[in-house]
Amino acid sequence: MNASELTQQIKAVRQRADALQNHAKTSPLPPSEILHDSLEELNTALEELRVAEEEVRQQNEELRNIRYELEVERQRYKELFDFAPDAYLVTNTEGKILEANRTATSLFKISPKYIQGKLLINFVPENQRRAFRSQLISLEKIRQIQDWEIHLQTREHTGFDAAISITTMCDREGNPLGWRWLIRDITARKQAEEQLRAIRNENLQLQEATRLKSQFLAVMSHELRTPMNAILGFSQLLLRHPYNQFPPQARSMVERILSSARRLLVLIEDILDFSKLEAGRLELNLQEFSLAELVTTTVEELHCLAQQKNLTINVYINLKNPQIINDSDRLRQILVNLLSNAIKFTDVGNVNVEVLEIQDRVMLIVKDTGIGIGEVDLKNIFQEFRQVNQCLTRKHGGTGLGLAIVDQLVRLMKGSITVESKLAKGSTFRVELPRVVNKN
Ligand code: ADP
Repeated sequence: MNASELTQQIKAVRQRADALQNHAKTSPLPPSEILHDSLEELNTALEELRVAEEEVRQQNEELRNIRYELEVERQRYKELFDFAPDAYLVTNTEGKILEANRTATSLFKISPKYIQGKLLINFVPENQRRAFRSQLISLEKIRQIQDWEIHLQTREHTGFDAAISITTMCDREGNPLGWRWLIRDITARKQAEEQLRAIRNENLQLQEATRLKSQFLAVMSHELRTPMNAILGFSQLLLRHPYNQFPPQARSMVERILSSARRLLVLIEDILDFSKLEAGRLELNLQEFSLAELVTTTVEELHCLAQQKNLTINVYINLKNPQIINDSDRLRQILVNLLSNAIKFTDVGNVNVEVLEIQDRVMLIVKDTGIGIGEVDLKNIFQEFRQVNQCLTRKHGGTGLGLAIVDQLVRLMKGSITVESKLAKGSTFRVELPRVVNKN
C-alpha cells in the first residue's frame, strides 16, 4: 500500500463517519438502534484501517532493511574507492575536485580536507598546462580518454609521471556533469623503461665493440699468418742444408726459430678461429666421412706426444655405422684439442678415447687419469682465456682458448659438450653430436 492509497482509505472512513452522523440526525429509528448500526459501521472501518496500518508498518520495515543494505553497499564502495591502489578523483566539468580517494591525496601529498574544491590543474606543471587544457576541451567531444601519459606534480611541486584515464559522468539527458579520473603513478615503470633503453643501448655498443674487436683480431691474425709462413718455410729450408754449412750453434737456433714459429702459428690460428666463431662468421664445410677413420688417424698423429710422456692412448670404437656428415677438419680440431689437453695434463696413467652411437647421435669421449679440475673451475672451463692454474699452464703452454673454441664449434654443430672431473683423479670430456649436421 502506498501513501495515496492510505489517504484514500482514511478519506473513505471519514466520509462514512459523516454519512453515519447525517443518518443519525435524520433517521426515524430509535437512538439505540442507530447507535448499534453506527458502532457496527465504525468497527468495520476500524478493522480496515488496522489492516492498512499493518501493511504500512510492514512496508516501513522493508524500507528500513533496504536502506540498511544500501548503506552497507555504499560503505563497501567507499572502501573500495578509498583503498584502491590507484588514485581516483571526481571533478566537475571545470576540473574542480569534488571527491578524492586516499591514494589520490597521498599521491598529491595533500591532506583530504584540502584537496576538495581545488582545481586539478594545480597539480599540472606550468609547462604542461596548455596541453592539459586542450585535452579537457577535447574531452567534451570524445567523452573518454585512456592511458594518457602526462607529467604531474605534488602540492610541493615534486614531479612524477602519470597515466590518466577519464570518463564523463552525465545527467539523464546526457549532459556532462563532471569527470571521473583514474590516475596511476608510472614513475617506476618509466624509470625501468629508461634503464632498459640505456642497457639496450649499452648492449648495442658492446656488441658493436665486440664485432670490431673480432674483426680486428681476424684481420690481425690474417696479417700475422703471412709473415709467419715465411719464417716457417725459410727455417725449414735452412734446416735441410747439410750440418757443416752452419756455423756452430746456428742449427739449434734455427730449430728454435722453427718450433717457436710453429707455436705462434697455432696461437694465431686459434685467435683467428675464435674471432670468426664469435663474430658468427665461421662456416662448416659439411661432407660425409667415416668417424672411425677420423678418430684413428687423429690419435695416431698425437701418438708421439703421448709417447714422450710414457702415456698410452686406448681407442674404443663402438659404431655400427661409422659414416657421419660433419666438417671433418673442425671435428679433428675438437678431438686434437681434447686429446692434447688430456696428454698435457696427465703425467701417469693413460688416455682413453671412446666413440659410440645413441640413435641418430654420436658420442666422443676423451678420458684421462691426470691432474683433474676443481669444482669451482669446472664451471668456467669453457670460457675463453680461462686457465685453472697459471703456474701449470706456464709450464705446459697454452692460451686458454682451446676449450672455448671446442665449445663454440660443438654448438655450431648443434651438439653439446660436458665435463666431469675430480682433482688428482682425472677428467672426462663428452661430446655429443648429431650424426648428420645440417647447415642452419
Ligand atoms: P689451454 O690452451 O690453456 O690448454 P684450454 O681452453 O684448452 O686452454 O684449457 C683451459 C684450461 O682448462 C687449461 O689451462 C687447464 O687448466 C684446464 N684443462 C683443460 N683440459 C684439462 C684436462 N684434461 N685435465 C686438466 N685440466 C684441464
